[in-house]
Amino acid sequence: MTLLNDLPRPGSARLAVRVTPDALRRIRGGHPWLFDGSITTVNGSSVPTTSATAPGTAGDLAVIFDDERRFAAIGLWDPASPIRVKLLHHGSPTTIDAAWFAERLATAVGRRRPLAESATGPAPTTGYRLVHGENDALPGLVVDRYGHVLVVKLYSAAWVPHLADVVPALLRLVPSRSVVLRLARALSEQPLHGLAEGTTLHGSDVDAPVPFLEHGLHFEADVLRGQKTGFFLDQRDNRALVGAASSGARVLDVFSCTGGFSVHAAAGGARSVLSVDSSPAATLAARANMQLNTDIAAVAACRHSVTVGEAFGVLEDLGSQRGRFDVVVVDPPSFARNAVSVPRALQAYQRLAELAAPLVERGGLLVHASCSARVSEADFVRAIHTGSARASIELDEERRTGHPLDHPIGFPEGGYLKVLYSRPHRITRRP
Ligand code: SAH
Repeated sequence: MTLLNDLPRPGSARLAVRVTPDALRRIRGGHPWLFDGSITTVNGSSVPTTSATAPGTAGDLAVIFDDERRFAAIGLWDPASPIRVKLLHHGSPTTIDAAWFAERLATAVGRRRPLAESATGPAPTTGYRLVHGENDALPGLVVDRYGHVLVVKLYSAAWVPHLADVVPALLRLVPSRSVVLRLARALSEQPLHGLAEGTTLHGSDVDAPVPFLEHGLHFEADVLRGQKTGFFLDQRDNRALVGAASSGARVLDVFSCTGGFSVHAAAGGARSVLSVDSSPAATLAARANMQLNTDIAAVAACRHSVTVGEAFGVLEDLGSQRGRFDVVVVDPPSFARNAVSVPRALQAYQRLAELAAPLVERGGLLVHASCSARVSEADFVRAIHTGSARASIELDEERRTGHPLDHPIGFPEGGYLKVLYSRPHRITRRP
């Protein structure tokens, strides 16, 4: 904890911020973001909106006032980001201090009680998200729990001066052996007072993959180098559904990453599982995660193979070899990082459906996921139908799913995960 205490503390001065009428309306409606372009004055002076010249220090408290100088909201100032203030609270004035952070964190952790309580049930889960940023009213802060290890992931340097309040409060709520820091890519260029990717914020250094359970199955997360914080926790419920549909099945898991769907399919009785991902490290982890569960007879009996490769090409090859599977899962990375890339993302979803649907055996299950926040569920589902139709395949929709309990949706931009379950069949043209 010495390190935490060495970090700069927020200054006592507050930035007084005035904003456009539109922005004020959004803030009063509870939106967590204030963009630089919506700020009219800071401490009474008009301000240049570009990041390079913005006043203040990351993590300063910024108070938004209305035209009558009444308090509207308070948040964290981030001079390096176009989302200049991450709003913490709106309505009546409040003091943001250690007690305030502790209370917000307690609310977030309390929401996950059903997951925490699963630890004493028949299918324990010990890997889940404790804090989901904006959606838990803590914009830019993510905390994931993997068994005895917490991973704090920052999407804004504004959290650095508040870590000395946040980390001890988290540890009181969820006593843990270690707390590890991960940083979003945007922070890699910013001065963070000695903090870096992988810094240990509390306890012993983590020097090996961290074991945890998901629905009673064993996994390990590389919390220092793995994608996100080491595991894609948001697909937990979908993995259970795929597991339940996999008895006796030949399963294809495309974009398998560390094998979440693959292991659940094997435990659900899959005859064989083929995991496909372009990341050699992720596929090695998928193999290792499968191995961790071979005490389960179904996993030991399942034929597991791995292909390291580019998914579109691998799907084309499987198609030309007339490969057939009873369950196909397609869970690609986000294809649309900004509004401009949405049309290209939709084309990619179409192409994946065109390639994957023909691989599904008659009566089999096709599971298509999208984690692109900018692609709506309606557009995504349409793309999957359009792509399949190009391969002369119609999809009977069976189910649509979204976010699990530990990934709540707290504001309009917060929803991103959508999953379509369907049964493909050939379009038969009447003579
Ligand atoms: N299904 C996974 C999560 C998938 S995340 C789970 O349940 O954990 C997306 C994955 O796609 C990442 O592992 C990334 O390595 C992989 N990936 C990205 N682009 C790819 C491509 N073109 N071909 C194959 N894999 C790709």
